[in-house]
Amino acid sequence: MYTRPLANLIEQLQRLPGIGPKSAQRLALHLLKRPDTEISALAEALLNAKQQVGQCSICHHLSAEPVCTICADTRRDPHTLCVVIDSRDVIALEKTREYRGKYHVLGGLISPMDGIGPDQLFIQSLVRRVSGGAIAEVILAISPSVEGETTTLYVGSLLAPFTKVTRIAFGIPMGGDLEYADEITLAKAMEGRRPLELG
Ligand SMILES: [Zn+2]
Repeated sequence: MYTRPLANLIEQLQRLPGIGPKSAQRLALHLLKRPDTEISALAEALLNAKQQVGQCSICHHLSAEPVCTICADTRRDPHTLCVVIDSRDVIALEKTREYRGKYHVLGGLISPMDGIGPDQLFIQSLVRRVSGGAIAEVILAISPSVEGETTTLYVGSLLAPFTKVTRIAFGIPMGGDLEYADEITLAKAMEGRRPLELG
């Protein structure tokens, strides 16, 4: 149906999240019409981002530097930590412009079904950060789902001996990712946070 190079491009595009066969075909045909310079810029941006973006050595948020701009920002409150699943959540919360503390990215949820245990997540580094005693509050901003609850309670029970642990309000839809909540809902969820109850 397609000439080989075009088929390859469509195949690669189709691997991207949210891109089905029709979208892949539309994107591929669109790209073929663009000037060479634009295509080179796109290819270069892809490679550069992949090669240069790693993670912050403190909070594990995406960063091109060893320490991310949020951790390095001395105007932010160093005594409040917001724990999230991944960098998309950091970006979503930053967009609300309400939160002025620091973050800790776990890198996923505890999910025995998928073979993901606490050791595969950045939980040890979180406990190290909090056990130092300088953190006055840890806000668990993990959206509610079965795995979300497991992770929230597990992390909360590890941190409770060292600091006040709160969780954001459930204004956000069950099982929904933080990034899909609008900014006002997210800001309200953060504002309405309450102490974590450990059974
Ligand atoms: Zn950081």
